Amino acid sequence: MSKMKTFALAGNPNCGKTTLFNNLTGSTAHVGNWPGVTVDKKEGTYKKLEEHVAIIDLPGIYSLSPYTPEEVISRNYILEEKPACVINIVDATNLERNLYLTTQLLEMDVPLVVALNMMDVVESHGDVIQVKDLEKKLGVPVVRISALKEDNLDELMRVAYQEALKGRQGKTLIENKDMLHLINDVTIAFKGKGVVNPLFHAVKLVENDEIEAKDHPDLLPMVDEFKKSFHDEMFDDDFEALIADSRYKYISKNCAPFYKKKDPEARVLTKSDKIDRVLTNKWAGIPIFLVILFFIFHLTFSENLFFLGGLIKFDHSCFEGSMFEGLFFTDAGINSPGVILANFFTNITDWITGCVSGWLEEGSWLQGFICDGVLGGLFAVLGFLPQILFLFLFFSILEDSGYMARVAFILDRIFRKFGLSGRSFMPMIMGFGCSVPAMINTRTLADEKERTATVRVIPFFSCGAKLPILTAIAGALVQTFGIGNADLITYAMYLVGMVTAIICVIAMRHTTMRGDVPPFIMELPAYHAPQFKSLMIHLWDKTKHFVKKAFTIILASTILIWFLSNFGWNWKSVDMQDSILASIGQLIQPLFTPLGFGSQLNSLGWVFAVAAITGLIAKENVIATFFTLAGVIIAAAGEDSSLAALIGEEATADGIAESIVMIKGTGITAAGCISFIAFNMLTIPCFAACATAKAELPKGKFKWTVLFWIAVSYIGAAIIYTFLSMFSSDTLAWAIPTFAGILVAAAAAILGVIYYNKKHPVKKEA
Ligand code: GDP
Ligand code: MG
Repeated sequence: MSKMKTFALAGNPNCGKTTLFNNLTGSTAHVGNWPGVTVDKKEGTYKKLEEHVAIIDLPGIYSLSPYTPEEVISRNYILEEKPACVINIVDATNLERNLYLTTQLLEMDVPLVVALNMMDVVESHGDVIQVKDLEKKLGVPVVRISALKEDNLDELMRVAYQEALKGRQGKTLIENKDMLHLINDVTIAFKGKGVVNPLFHAVKLVENDEIEAKDHPDLLPMVDEFKKSFHDEMFDDDFEALIADSRYKYISKNCAPFYKKKDPEARVLTKSDKIDRVLTNKWAGIPIFLVILFFIFHLTFSENLFFLGGLIKFDHSCFEGSMFEGLFFTDAGINSPGVILANFFTNITDWITGCVSGWLEEGSWLQGFICDGVLGGLFAVLGFLPQILFLFLFFSILEDSGYMARVAFILDRIFRKFGLSGRSFMPMIMGFGCSVPAMINTRTLADEKERTATVRVIPFFSCGAKLPILTAIAGALVQTFGIGNADLITYAMYLVGMVTAIICVIAMRHTTMRGDVPPFIMELPAYHAPQFKSLMIHLWDKTKHFVKKAFTIILASTILIWFLSNFGWNWKSVDMQDSILASIGQLIQPLFTPLGFGSQLNSLGWVFAVAAITGLIAKENVIATFFTLAGVIIAAAGEDSSLAALIGEEATADGIAESIVMIKGTGITAAGCISFIAFNMLTIPCFAACATAKAELPKGKFKWTVLFWIAVSYIGAAIIYTFLSMFSSDTLAWAIPTFAGILVAAAAAILGVIYYNKKHPVKKEA
């Protein structure tokens, strides 16, 4: 069988490569409306030509110089793997800048097709691009497409296929005569050495490209000789700048004029520009972002939507006793859509547990194992899926619309003064989803120290798996101690994580990870309405990942925890207090005393220690462990009347009730609960994230990173516990947001001082 032909997609960041890739191959790679989403290359198959061809989605690049990892990946791929054709995707709305890469691809001996993407946008402005003329000037086929609207894609592939059959010799558009002379000489020298792609290598060598200089030191004298005799007024002997200038000149003289604007005067401000006047406003930008964030959490978690509960009382007597009871509203107010979905899901899983329980012998070993051990833990985790999906839906909308890129931009303005670039904020925002891709995304950071600092704080951006810890315990807190409002607590905890991250980054950038911030180069993409298809792709990605984890790692740990909590060292069934798990838990429990969930709790208190440890495998485990153990406690309470009295009514209820059982059963304080949430949020992330961090960090930095995580979480939780313990449960409702507020203020003060010092440097004695 002959090898499949390969077509590689190359282009600037955010020009639509992944969108095209997905539509050609029917795959579901992540499309983001900001640059730098695709760092690795992806592969798929296009099946509508006479033979199947492989399609490769390369990382986005602005040039083929070896400055960023993306550039190196893409360059080496084309040079070494020799695709049958390169499809250069060009964002037609940014023609001049995008064609800069094209002029470099042209120099390679590889078939090339230019795909003019985003033509739907160009046409909607009433603009016209003279494709045929452009084709003549570039010397390769140019095909107009819209990756998003799936317009003309088959034509593009047909043209690419024809080109692949023809083959192509590299050519350069550099017109500077002296330069051209030198390039020709070096090309001939390369040919003499039998190097493939001689023209490309020659131009790069003349540009003083570090890779070429290292690989072909023998040809350097030729260039240096020429340099001595050559002097340009503007560039002196900076050949790289001279060549770049030559490329841009060609584009602006020969290509740019083919973009005919409808009426250049009439459209000074685009719609995006107008929106940006407000959203990226110097003063309003950040407050708007925080308000948006709050509404997202409110719509996902609130049991008192828009705080209407205080104004209107809802009569829900008609639902009493039915499965709709408490689904849409309670005495407290209307449920948010996120809560309604979650309640609905819980009703279903409870019904399943009820059925299964009915089939098994009442009070038997098997019933306990299946219902408490397996289903309890599994449904505890899956039960959060609706709210997680809801949250991600909102985040995907923000990302797809182009708003997230603005957030990075707004934050860059502030952060760069203190040692961070906006680029490092993108992986941090991704951290809200999952630390693993977020850490991989730090590859877009050029400065290694900034990158290390960023990888270290990514886990503080609470990921999807940590959400259940937050919501379950916050919900239980509200009900047990009658404090505040669950979504406010959740929101405050997210804020604590973010502020901790900021403080840590600043601390690192001023101590062990000092360095200059590279400039922020990223255009803001045009706003557009999020695409339903791409939203669904994002959600499916999350669901797939989450469900897979629930049925593998989490299911296995749940079963293990159940066994360990039901059996003693003699392998006989015992009460939980005498189980293997209890003895392990009691051993490590004292460690957590300063944090409020250690030895001060009663005989069941070790469950918090165990939950924190199982969380190291996967964060969902914290709550799964919790629920499995709650099941055991409830079962024990049936026989033990003192425990039953302590737990009370809730023992028979469901959902958050399990957390309530844990709180009442162990005697933990509200402050201890919050500290427990904080500890889990800030501590060593899950297994997968650790493995990624180890791979992405420079050699030898991983062990310090683990130490850093332990220290931050321990100290942070201890501070929170000590601080909150000063309040009674009545005043705690305000203490939690106040604490977040104080933290923010403290961070702002530190920033202020650092900024001041920067502006007024201490004068050194000469
Ligand atoms: P990549 O960084 O090159 O992989 O770009 P993506 O495929 O992630 O796309 C970046 C953004 O441009 C996304 O928001 C896409 O929806 C959008 N986009 C891609 N192609 C088109 C197109 O043809 N027309 C319009 N209007 N938007 C597009
Ligand atoms: Mg991409």
